[in-house]
Amino acid sequence: MARIVMKFGGTSVADLDRIRNVAQRVKREVDAGNQVAVVVSAMSGVTNQLVKYCTDLSPLHDPREYDAVVATGEQVTSGLLAIELQRLGYEARSWQGWQIPIQTNDAFGKARIDGIDGSALLASIESGAIAVVAGFQGVAPGARIATLGRGGSDTSAVALAAALKAERCDIYTDVDGVYTTDPRIVPKARKLQKISYEEMLELASVGAKVLQTRSVELAMNERVRVQVLSSFQDIPGTMVVDEDEIVEKQNVSGIAYSRDDAKITVRRVKDRPGIAAIIFGALAEANVNVDMIVQNLGADGTTDMTFTVGKADLPRAHAALGAIKEEIGYTDLLEDPDVAKISVVGVGMRSHAGIANTMFRALADKAINIQVISTSEIKVSVLIGAEYTELAVRALHTAYGLDAA
Ligand code: ADP
Ligand code: ASP
Ligand code: MG
Repeated sequence: MARIVMKFGGTSVADLDRIRNVAQRVKREVDAGNQVAVVVSAMSGVTNQLVKYCTDLSPLHDPREYDAVVATGEQVTSGLLAIELQRLGYEARSWQGWQIPIQTNDAFGKARIDGIDGSALLASIESGAIAVVAGFQGVAPGARIATLGRGGSDTSAVALAAALKAERCDIYTDVDGVYTTDPRIVPKARKLQKISYEEMLELASVGAKVLQTRSVELAMNERVRVQVLSSFQDIPGTMVVDEDEIVEKQNVSGIAYSRDDAKITVRRVKDRPGIAAIIFGALAEANVNVDMIVQNLGADGTTDMTFTVGKADLPRAHAALGAIKEEIGYTDLLEDPDVAKISVVGVGMRSHAGIANTMFRALADKAINIQVISTSEIKVSVLIGAEYTELAVRALHTAYGLDAA
């Protein structure tokens, strides 16, 4: 007998038939004698619709009310799955974030989990009931509902697995594992049997949506055994493991893309000490995360500051930069949402030179212009025009010898 957490994403609970299918998978684990906590996402498309309601009413909406709205999708699916499990003759109940409770900080819209008191839920599953937990949500100080950022149900699942000291955290989704790149863009992508926490973390952080970044970070720190697998097919998925468990190490393990960023250029600011501190201080104050940054010095002693922020943060970034225009004296604010960030990830970069150069060459061969570059120990990222996303990812997949035979 084992204690396990099973998480089902949006496409896996997209309609009642899919929810019935999920219930059958849960039934199988329970019938095998396991104690089960299930974490569910909202039905696919629902969260997008809820987000749109908020932004259509007001682009600069109160993030606490945004969370009150977008958390509802998961409440629906948790109740529906509990109903179906009960219909099959099992004892089951839904749990909302505040009922467990899953305590978060007050960064509404992208809150972090501060702690989970799993005792009531544990007592419930130990008595034989199935816990069906609404993913993506928790409760912030002041008893306000908070959500964990897009894709946050993965993090709910891993955090719960850690709190319950579960043997496994199985992430069921619409692909049968983690691939060398998004298999929906590159049909020749190869499925990985295992991937290291470090590489998965890096891939997730640069856009591989298959796992939310924070969930991988948590899994790595809390030693949670995570498997990514299909909710539609009965085949082994991908295990996320320690680096030393991987025998055949590749220089490049994967390629990711993100169309969730926007590029901002603050034109012709005075080139003097403290400018960057003012710009990025104002953005941090507005709770806007900045990713890639480049600064170009002009001949006239001014400088252009170019950087990327999340597309969803663009209205807030615009407002924050507008407020400091007098102070730093820029001439224009250019905003370009039509960009994509393409990243190559691999632990082999620590020891092999020339990996970045292969990337630049492959993009040049396709006449794709690179707008911004950034690197880390095991990653190289470039910003390009969004229209070249697929072309770039495919070209790089081939260039690094990752294509399936
Ligand atoms: P869920 O709703 O189950 O959470 P997501 O849409 O969040 O599912 O994540 C699964 C999707 O991640 C896949 O459909 C696939 O398009 C995408 N994806 C991106 N990169 C990868 C990758 N390297 N391996 C597998 N899937 C990937
Ligand atoms: N429903 C939320 C989202 O679409 C959380 C999740 O699916 O993980 O972002
Ligand atoms: Mg997801």
